[in-house]
Amino acid sequence: MDAESLEFLRAVIDAPSPSGLEQPVRRIIAEWIKPFCDEVRHDVMGNVIGVLNPGAKTRVMLAGHCDEVGMMITNITDKGYIYFASIGGLDTTILIGQRVWIHGAGRDVQGVIGRKPIHLLRREKEEAEKVPKLEDLWIDIGAGDKKDAEKVVAVGDYVTIDADLRKLRNNIVVGRGFDARVGAVAVAQTVRLLSKGKKKPQVAVYAVATTQEELGMRGAKVSAYGINPHAGIAVEVGFASDYPSINKNLVGDIALGRGPIIAKGPNINPVLGQLLVRPAKARKIPYQIEGEPGATGTDANVIQMTQAGVATALGSVPNRYMHSPVELVSLSDLDNTSKLLAATVQAMKPSEDFTPSL
Ligand SMILES: [Zn+2]
Repeated sequence: MDAESLEFLRAVIDAPSPSGLEQPVRRIIAEWIKPFCDEVRHDVMGNVIGVLNPGAKTRVMLAGHCDEVGMMITNITDKGYIYFASIGGLDTTILIGQRVWIHGAGRDVQGVIGRKPIHLLRREKEEAEKVPKLEDLWIDIGAGDKKDAEKVVAVGDYVTIDADLRKLRNNIVVGRGFDARVGAVAVAQTVRLLSKGKKKPQVAVYAVATTQEELGMRGAKVSAYGINPHAGIAVEVGFASDYPSINKNLVGDIALGRGPIIAKGPNINPVLGQLLVRPAKARKIPYQIEGEPGATGTDANVIQMTQAGVATALGSVPNRYMHSPVELVSLSDLDNTSKLLAATVQAMKPSEDFTPSL
């Protein structure tokens, strides 16, 4: 990955964007894609829509969601301790002991999610063995009491874990909320490849950073309705199975560094599915196949059922430890995802028919 793209990725990942508070990331993405698009617009749900080649007959939507899982303040006690609920699916065991940022009005406030020391937990054996519930956890900002806490935070403020992007070995990076902000980055990079590439796309490309995916693909639903595309490719993160304790029989044999994951199944249009695989083979872009036997829990699911139906596909960046502050992805997988998407769009004919043949 080149330095410019890495800096873009870092800016996106380090910015807070729990579902409903995507503005900081939307700003970064909109600014980055602007030079490569004919037009950049925003809809009422905050979806960022970059359009390339808008006059073309066939419309193709590329969707990567720019929201992350997070938390929201629900109550502040008289003593100034802060209770919270999750935004999207969070595992309580990974929250304990984390530093967090509360995104208050005009300023970010640092806090921690505390727990009783092991010495004291051991004295109450039952408590030590129990997995705490989310509602039993609290944030401590060092406030003296409720009044003091309320000087800087309020009920309804968003919370993210304090974990920035770092590099590990072998082109692997660690960060918070790669799900699926790396998908939004891959889509943005695709637009750059398409605008700078020799082969201009013959279709209209709608690059969308969708919002509120973690709450049920809400942004993709309305942006797809507005765009009414003929084809839509959701760009997500997918479960890697190359670490201890993962059952490959359940999720397939997926590894970091072996290329993007192309899904097969009822959520995937067969014509569009082939349009992903063929250029990948021709251009020697590595990829991995996963079986998705049902409606996927991704933007591809709602895009497919938009208006009279849309041909959909799903490309994913392999990801370890999804929905944790230490998600891992490979930068080469991310680059190859953009290359695959660009090659697919370039291979599309001006009036591509996605109706499955008999
Ligand atoms: Zn996701």
